[in-house]
Amino acid sequence: PPSSLRRPIRELPAELISQIAAGEVVERPASVVRELVDNAVDAGATQVTVRLVSGGVRSIVVEDDGHGIDESELALALRRHATSKIASLDDLEGVATMGFRGEALAAIASVAELAIASRPAQAAHAVRLDARSGELTPVARGTGTSIEVRELFFSTPARRKFLKSDATELAHCVDAVRRHALVRPDVGFAVWSDGRLVQRWPRGDAAARVRDVLGDAFIATSRELAALPAGAGTGHLQLRVSGRAGEPAAAKAHGDHQYVYVNGRFVRDKLIAHAVRSAYDDVLHGARQPAYLLFIEIAPERVDVNVHPTKVEVRFRDSREVHQAVRRAVEQALGNARFADAAERGL
Ligand code: ADP
Ligand code: MG
Repeated sequence: PPSSLRRPIRELPAELISQIAAGEVVERPASVVRELVDNAVDAGATQVTVRLVSGGVRSIVVEDDGHGIDESELALALRRHATSKIASLDDLEGVATMGFRGEALAAIASVAELAIASRPAQAAHAVRLDARSGELTPVARGTGTSIEVRELFFSTPARRKFLKSDATELAHCVDAVRRHALVRPDVGFAVWSDGRLVQRWPRGDAAARVRDVLGDAFIATSRELAALPAGAGTGHLQLRVSGRAGEPAAAKAHGDHQYVYVNGRFVRDKLIAHAVRSAYDDVLHGARQPAYLLFIEIAPERVDVNVHPTKVEVRFRDSREVHQAVRRAVEQALGNARFADAAERGL
């Protein structure tokens, strides 16, 4: 009907509300993998196994050995805005878990077939909940949780059409696990595709994990950032930047290794990308992209992670200080002394 026609205002049915919301969280199989691995890590898992069929389009299973979900809470875990991770605004401001919005499982269940099987440590056996039928059945498994997601976008064919080839979707899924792997060396990760083990990152120390994930070539052509002491005026930020910066000579035409984490969370942040880029200004010309791995630690109340449903964007309360600290840390590693003298750092 023409848009000028007045039509009654109505509240949308719950199912449609969930499907609309799911659009923000679930874009492709890799978004599901990301959310499920977030949950596994939040549950204290030491081993996370991801099993994909057809690039995750047909099926995604994520298994963990975390603390599990009690049978009585399985259905609640699938409800929108139901979470065990925060209970108040105060909690939100200091949030240390990957999740806190209570949206992912509800979103995934609204655009795919989903089942959860879980066994808390003290339980006699695991229980599986099928989201569609609501049926609960006892199953065999050790402590932890397995979440199965099948036929992604089966009910939303418009979305399904945007999916790329299985190989491309698989690559994105592996990327999603890689982002976790880089920041959680204390957790082992494995990715299976169509019954084949395609990636395995065993538990280990941080340096070994970075080498495992990014390769010997990256280690050989990058320099470690000296964790900067907080400069003048940034003490209350508890700001600390660490990681590795790729040597300019090794920069690729496109930056394949560009990873930034804020308080353990992978982010894509224009401010930080700009700060890094400006550190390379004098040493890197043209469109070549440096490789880098940055871990930024900052007092949780100085950063807002609740900016976007996927939490890949963050907002800093002290963007100027963060920009400066990142730029200096990278410049220092690259041996560019321009801004790195003691006076500048206020030492
Ligand atoms: P959020 O992670 O934001 O809390 P989710 O929809 O991803 O929201 O998950 C809802 C809840 O289900 C979580 O708060 C958690 O209590 C529980 N949960 C989900 N996945 C797992 C898991 N792998 N292990 C233990 N608990 C889980
Ligand atoms: Mg979650």
